[in-house]
Amino acid sequence: MVYPETFQAVGVVDYDDYHNPKRFEYKPQKFRDYDVDVKIEACGVCGSDIHAASGNWGRPYAPVAVGHEIIGTIVKIGPKAKSGLKIGDRVGIGAQCDCDSTCSACKDNTEQYCENSVGTYFGTYKESGLHTIGGNASHIRVNSKLAFKIPDDLETKYVAPLLCGGITGFSPLLKNNVKKGTKVGIIGIGGIGHMTILFAKALGAEVTAISRGRSKESDAKQLGADHYIATSEPESLKKAVRTLDLIVSTSNSFSQTTLTPVLKLLKASGTFSFITAPPEKEKMELIPMELISSGYGVQGSMIGSPKNIEYMLDFASKHKIKPWVETIEINEKNLGDAWKRMEDGDVHYRFTMVGYDKFFKNA
Ligand SMILES: [Zn+2]
Ligand SMILES: [Zn+2]
Repeated sequence: MVYPETFQAVGVVDYDDYHNPKRFEYKPQKFRDYDVDVKIEACGVCGSDIHAASGNWGRPYAPVAVGHEIIGTIVKIGPKAKSGLKIGDRVGIGAQCDCDSTCSACKDNTEQYCENSVGTYFGTYKESGLHTIGGNASHIRVNSKLAFKIPDDLETKYVAPLLCGGITGFSPLLKNNVKKGTKVGIIGIGGIGHMTILFAKALGAEVTAISRGRSKESDAKQLGADHYIATSEPESLKKAVRTLDLIVSTSNSFSQTTLTPVLKLLKASGTFSFITAPPEKEKMELIPMELISSGYGVQGSMIGSPKNIEYMLDFASKHKIKPWVETIEINEKNLGDAWKRMEDGDVHYRFTMVGYDKFFKNA
């Protein structure tokens, strides 16, 4: 069967063999009045995809395609869809594909924290019990509230990674009112980290890139970072004590460390923001006395609200935000290789899988 009865996908069929994704097809849930169907053109590879595919977040179900930095074209639109969208529009979809629009989080315009949020993969629709599959697929069916029109001047391969990685890094900058002259530290120069540097610079911040060693230094400078700290060098840390207003951590594991040395980089009343998800059961040490004695705040932030995603796309267009992207043609082997290269850190700094039309030509 083909669209609209079934959607074609490629992804994890067997978690024990996740480096060898396979093609499969699935039945989407019933089309609702406010949904859109999107024919997928491209999809970025987010760190979350690797956590999900490798079983770091458990093994809730298979098959699952993963992929939540989706760009495609609207091919079907419900009568109650969000205004401003029409068939043929190029839209983006990130890590969230449904929300109830009625809970307190939704009413506060923070739909990403909706009580009934459904993830683009590893999500389950309440009404049908059906699981979401993700963006490495021929099509996706989503609540139109979570489909965003892409400004014409943003090229598909560069804008795809903004739908999850980009907004994840941009949100804590907005939440903490980063503006000209704000001193922002960004831990981790990877997929999300490099985009966070680009956004922070575009907002006018003075940016300090923070990494373990020196291997990312020249890239960080090229991305626009004003300063660089290597946390493995005590002198480098010491020189920067109490210099930052905000630290955004894009590191994906803290289990082996303590926050103490990096918290010291914050000025009094500074804020530390976690934005990337570690393995499911990870815990870390936090010493309340260190927060109290300097008035520090520690916060979490996840992806972004529809309002902020729209703002980000407009901002990216105005400021010509361009992540460092390598494009890869989508197929079983290439997707598995891309995940493996992500695990090996062999990515500078985002893959966008392309050619979905060709690969799923029979869909
Ligand atoms: Zn993501
Ligand atoms: Zn809600």
